[in-house]
Amino acid sequence: MSKGKLFVFSGASGVGKSTVLKTVMDQRKDLVFSVSATTRAPRPGEVEGADYYFISRTEFEDWIARGEFLEYDEHNDVLYGTPVGQVNEKLERGNVVLDVEPNGAFNVRKSCPEATLIFVMPPSWEELERRLRGRGDTTPEQIEKRLARARWEMDQSVHYDYVVTNDRVEACAAEILKIIAEKAD
Ligand code: 5GP
Repeated sequence: MSKGKLFVFSGASGVGKSTVLKTVMDQRKDLVFSVSATTRAPRPGEVEGADYYFISRTEFEDWIARGEFLEYDEHNDVLYGTPVGQVNEKLERGNVVLDVEPNGAFNVRKSCPEATLIFVMPPSWEELERRLRGRGDTTPEQIEKRLARARWEMDQSVHYDYVVTNDRVEACAAEILKIIAEKAD
């Protein structure tokens, strides 16, 4: 029997989920982040083994064949997956945090029905749209794709156990800490 509880977080790109999660994890040292594998290239500042395991598509397919993923999903031509061995090992040590998009979250729920699914919402659609359009690193076509994906992700929030809004990082983190305390303490 594992000791810890599993907390699964999703939220559209641009919602500030990483900052909120960092604030939450700074305040609860029993939370362990599950590092995913991905076939996308590292962004500047991202660290192998801390942000992701950056692997090739061939390696990823080998991992799938060996049954090494609790769940995996492909979006924007990139594969992302949660290594099952790592999650089980981390659950022995504490409560585990996953950051996955909705398909991944629902697949985790299938294998681990006791997992708690938490969706992080932007303050408003207009605010998210402003943030996504303001990034300036993509073509109009990519921005439209990103907006459509964000809209779809937000529509999935009705299936989550909890929906929290990131209007202020500290307040949102406090709300999440309360949920975790209810489930894990
Ligand atoms: P990014 O490429 O910006 O780091 O992440 C893009 C999206 O992939 C985010 O919504 C993130 O939650 C999701 N993601 C990251 N790791 C995983 C994973 O292991 N499985 C799934 N299904 N989604 C993931």
